[in-house]
Amino acid sequence: FMEDRGKGLVHMDGILRGNTGMGVGDRVTVAASAARPAMRVVLVPAGAGPVREADYVAHLIEGLPLLAGNRVRATLVGSRAQDFLVKATEPTGPVLVQSSTVIRIERGEGNASPSRVAYEDVGGLHREIQRIREMIEFPLRYPEVFERLGIEPPRGVLLHGLPGTGKTLIARAIANETEASFFSINGPEIVNKFYGESEARLRDIFEQAKKKAPSILFIDEIDAIAPKREKVVGDVEKRIVAQLLALMDGLEDRGRLVVIGATNIPDVLDPALRRPGRFDREIAIGVPNQQGRLEILDIHTRGMPLAQDVSVAQVSEITHGFVGADLEALCR
Ligand code: ATP
Repeated sequence: FMEDRGKGLVHMDGILRGNTGMGVGDRVTVAASAARPAMRVVLVPAGAGPVREADYVAHLIEGLPLLAGNRVRATLVGSRAQDFLVKATEPTGPVLVQSSTVIRIERGEGNASPSRVAYEDVGGLHREIQRIREMIEFPLRYPEVFERLGIEPPRGVLLHGLPGTGKTLIARAIANETEASFFSINGPEIVNKFYGESEARLRDIFEQAKKKAPSILFIDEIDAIAPKREKVVGDVEKRIVAQLLALMDGLEDRGRLVVIGATNIPDVLDPALRRPGRFDREIAIGVPNQQGRLEILDIHTRGMPLAQDVSVAQVSEITHGFVGADLEALCR
């Protein structure tokens, strides 16, 4: 961008940040490097998906510099994209994909995660993302700084807002940008009528998340498992709340495992869950304004061929009250 010239700033997208292991705001050293024309490139699709024609993919990534081990994204028609991992290149070292490059797509071993969600996949919500980065990303990436400053990073963060405003999306973006392991559970899924089963599942997932630390544990619809205890009649919910409280209190290694809870109705949550030391940070995820809607529409129409007379800006002006999920559906 013109206004960033001469300030020593570089813009990197989520894929490039992932490939270089850098985060937003990090200091980088940039040096020129010679890339040789690629003769052959072997790609492995990340995650499951239909097999793409190698020629088609080759056409999409023509002109891209690659290195074995990189992740590359091919933007398909529509708002879909398919990520690939570069398994091998010939010659080795940095290469440039050209029209003469032979691309081979191998069926993956299925271990690579599917498409990553980056911060630029979230429209609007700049203040919210900034706050979440300070609360979660920085403690996960620079634990020593927090230790030295004597600041205790939060154990739990509660996101609340209307359905489809992007709570799950933000949690995924944070996990990807911090390279933390991501565990996700759905509140209602945990509830099991058999005595002790629900608690065991909760303990199990906390245990797994601890083992793979740094991790982010995302509990969607947390209201289903942690309603106010005096209001519930069922014994199951009471026991799950108690177990969740015990697990949160038992997290010694602060900052290495962060629990993010999401809910549409924060007021029905058990107050004990919202006291300091548990879910002590709360972030409201609001309905996007016109600028936010424009950004979301831009994100979801990225790979779409639009007709000349379609004005995304005009659509953003007449969609008052639409949340991210509505706008995504509209684009489809
Ligand atoms: P729920 O409360 O129902 O779980 P949620 O707030 O978690 O909803 P998401 O699952 O994050 O909502 O959003 C649903 C979909 O809507 C996302 O997969 C994304 O494609 C789209 N979406 C929502 N908000 C945004 C946004 N701010 N920017 C871009 N896309 C968005």
